[in-house]
Amino acid sequence: MSQIIKIENLNLWYEKDKPIEVHALKNINIGIERGDYVAFFGPSGCGKTTMLYSISGIDRFQEGKVLINARDISGLTNQELAIFRQTGIGIVFQQFNLVPSLNVLKNVSLPMLFVGITSDKADIEARKLLERLDLTKYAERYPYELSGGQQQRVGIARALANNPPIIIADEPLGNLDSVNAKMVLEFLKELNEKDGRTIIMVTHEAWSLRDVKTIFHMKDGEIIDEEKIESGNIPSTLSKHLNEQISSMSGDVDKKDIPPERVTARILANFLLRGYSMDEIIRFESLVNDRFDNKIDKKEFIKVSSKSFKDGGVGLRKNKVEKVTDYIEGIINKRKDVERIYNFINESNELPIRDEINNIRDWLLEGYTGKLSNLQVLALDQVISDRTRGFIKSDKVVETLDLSNSKFGVGLSFRAAHLISEKLELILNDDKEEVVNNDEPLKKL
Ligand code: ADP
Ligand code: MG
Repeated sequence: MSQIIKIENLNLWYEKDKPIEVHALKNINIGIERGDYVAFFGPSGCGKTTMLYSISGIDRFQEGKVLINARDISGLTNQELAIFRQTGIGIVFQQFNLVPSLNVLKNVSLPMLFVGITSDKADIEARKLLERLDLTKYAERYPYELSGGQQQRVGIARALANNPPIIIADEPLGNLDSVNAKMVLEFLKELNEKDGRTIIMVTHEAWSLRDVKTIFHMKDGEIIDEEKIESGNIPSTLSKHLNEQISSMSGDVDKKDIPPERVTARILANFLLRGYSMDEIIRFESLVNDRFDNKIDKKEFIKVSSKSFKDGGVGLRKNKVEKVTDYIEGIINKRKDVERIYNFINESNELPIRDEINNIRDWLLEGYTGKLSNLQVLALDQVISDRTRGFIKSDKVVETLDLSNSKFGVGLSFRAAHLISEKLELILNDDKEEVVNNDEPLKKL
């Protein structure tokens, strides 16, 4: 077997040379065989995600080499790297990261559009993938209309979109109930065994190691052990942790029960404060909204959560506060991850579709005096792309532009959303005029 990935003396620091410097990956030397099913396993914070981002060319490391098919990815040009990211690697995320404004079919075809495949052809390919994942009947649905397990299958279909030889999955089972988790594991196994794809999974939960062939154990940024599993055997890690895992899972029903497709402040508040009074839930909901909108920081969130109700707080007990804070901060951090990945795509503006969208975006924003964050710009690009390709209607454009940024919309004021949407419609209507019959324009008004 040949090595599809080789990592030599890899060192990565975050915030290098600052007091808060983190040495996230330390002297990593590993090889991954083509067709292997690999897991990076270790506790939270040990560097697993960083490892994946280094392999995918998302995180820039300071020392060492990552060779894919014997080519050093740090030597790739931006365009080569963008293409590598779009076609060489498919990524499955824990939080699914589907584009909420796109239906299932378009979510799966989008990565193909980013590499310049025509929308018709992309749709045909996307339908094939959906069929394979038993999702055909959901093709026209939107992510929020699906269960977590179904969304994760869409996530996998999307990861397969440009037929990448390497599939990377970052804690893909973390938000699934056991039935769906099992289905996803079965499919990853099939992809590995039948399709011969190289699978790289990251996990901190031993039970998801069931089918893997190689385990890299990680601790504090280091690979401390490489474990090869004979086929048919259970990884020692798995049997060792099994009992622990089962008891901790049943003690943690709260987290497992949360339907990830409904992660809005209201549902979160109702869920996290089950059994509390309506007044407390309502106050907590507005607190969660403030935190999502970054109007308050984590410290303030904790403060108000624990303050008594009559003093304007929510009146939660200390361990409850810790639990809900962790959950809410987890969601916020995941959104930052999304932003990071999208930023990367955004930077790769050599790809034709990006140029086209950039131009339209700049034109739309002429005269707009507010400042948009990277995530807002990306969300706006997404809307432009969706609308110009006819994926969404104009009312959906306004809705998305107006939606609070924390809910994946652009988060403009209602007025700005309308102005920009009208401007965008100008372009689209111009195009239509050519095909419209003479008696049609009246009807349009
Ligand atoms: P894991 O995926 O195993 O939980 P990560 O790879 O996310 O771990 O993080 C490894 C270490 O690097 C952690 O200490 C984390 O706090 C830190 N880290 C991760 N991303 C960043 C970042 N963007 N900036 C600074 N530190 C980071
Ligand atoms: Mg991680």
